[in-house]
Amino acid sequence: MSRDDTPPAPTPPTGTGPGSLGTAAAAGPGPAPRSGPAVATVEVPPSWRNWSGGLCFQPAGIARPDSVDQLCRIVRQTAARGGCVRPVGAGHSSAPLVRTDDLLLSVDRLPSGVLGTPADGQAWVGAGTRLHELGDLLRRHGLAMPNLGDVDTQAIAGAIGTGTHGSGRGLSNLSAMVTGVRLVTAAGQVIEIDGEREPDVLRAVQLSLGVLGVLTAVRTRVVPAFQARRREWGLPTDECLAVFDALLDANRNVDFYWYPRRDDAHLRTVNPVDDDPGPARLPATDCTEDRVGWSGSALTKRRSLRFHEIEYAVPAAAGPACFQELRHRIRIRHRQHAAWRVLYRYVAADHAYLSPAYGRDSVTISVHQNETSPYQEFFADVEPIFHAYGGRPHWAKIHHLEGRDLLSRYPEADRFLTVRHRLDPDGVFLSDYLRRLLAL
Ligand SMILES: Cc1cc2nc3c(=O)[nH]c(=O)nc-3n(C[C@H](O)[C@H](O)[C@H](O)COP(=O)(O)OP(=O)(O)OC[C@H]3O[C@@H](n4cnc5c(N)ncnc54)[C@H](O)[C@@H]3O)c2cc1C
Repeated sequence: MSRDDTPPAPTPPTGTGPGSLGTAAAAGPGPAPRSGPAVATVEVPPSWRNWSGGLCFQPAGIARPDSVDQLCRIVRQTAARGGCVRPVGAGHSSAPLVRTDDLLLSVDRLPSGVLGTPADGQAWVGAGTRLHELGDLLRRHGLAMPNLGDVDTQAIAGAIGTGTHGSGRGLSNLSAMVTGVRLVTAAGQVIEIDGEREPDVLRAVQLSLGVLGVLTAVRTRVVPAFQARRREWGLPTDECLAVFDALLDANRNVDFYWYPRRDDAHLRTVNPVDDDPGPARLPATDCTEDRVGWSGSALTKRRSLRFHEIEYAVPAAAGPACFQELRHRIRIRHRQHAAWRVLYRYVAADHAYLSPAYGRDSVTISVHQNETSPYQEFFADVEPIFHAYGGRPHWAKIHHLEGRDLLSRYPEADRFLTVRHRLDPDGVFLSDYLRRLLAL
């Protein structure tokens, strides 16, 4: 998505938040907080665990404000005592992005779903809306998300917070689909950011790791709802690699898993039923799965298995060579304990300052290890291969980069940091981990 592509805004939602507030710079103070207890919804849990249990910590509390006014007040009060607020979505990230010993903040009790009437190929969505709920809600308007990742359990704010992506030649990550947001800043003010008026700020908030403020609503691009056909094939790995580029051209969504122990591949394609490429442009073997459904259910799967994962995005042209080196390394050193699989996907370039696909079409390669199997040495051994190919890590998954070593991979990281400083000069949304990560 380029800034100049940003289409006009859809009808603003009514009765669901602060309303149109102009650009961030012109927004001025947010609405005056109502009186009443600011911390009425703060729970003190025994501990907080992410999806896999791999990240576990003890926050001082979890706030679930019932209104945007209350959210503003909580942020102001935390800022006034020099504390830290970390926004949290569905808790599906492995990296300790949400870890804090102070306040976790969830927007789950704020208005969710589709807010107002979608228009011009865009829809306002409550930030805490889970992607699987969003699929049904958008369909009532005859609409769908342009793409999704492998699962749809994330909150939309959490998904865009780390650049969640699927796979397809012309399909960007979910962050790049964002054309506007409403955000509660460190000053406890609500601002509305619009790509047309403030392209710089939009490119920062499209993927912000929750360090620019708390998102309360997101405006995302949408497409007409479509029925899709999902097919899967088992293939020898070299055959899969040989046809992958042509399949990317012929199919809307394509990716494959590689299984180290068997050294074979499992390929998936998803296409609109009324734009199916036909057998001539698909693998020549029989499918192991062939099903039709609404796009959301065709693109995603329910995952019950817990796993650890490291993922990097490398320039698309380097994808095959990087994969082959990784395959060789895993086969010779880790075949015995590589318990699961490697996922190979394609993501279109975008312009979000911190997007792993910033400025370049990318291949993403993720190595999965079952939750119960050791992964540290395995991941540490393969990670330098990604670095050698100019890789940028998935912000939500396991990696060992931080500071300038990490930021030097993002040509406009400093512009992100400038926006961050403008919106949160005192670091209300920063934890120790995030300070190290962002060289602050
Ligand atoms: C089983 C599984 C499958 C996955 N598949 C894919 C995939 O196919 N593709 C892919 O790219 N990734 C995938 N991921 C990674 C996942 O999409 C990311 O971890 C995503 O960020 C999780 O969303 P969440 O709602 O759980 O957010 P969280 O993990 O809770 O938070 C993620 C980030 O968003 C910020 N955030 C959350 N809410 C807000 C808010 N309201 N305002 C401001 N910031 C906020 C947080 O501070 C944090 O920095 C997968 C993860 C799992 C566990």
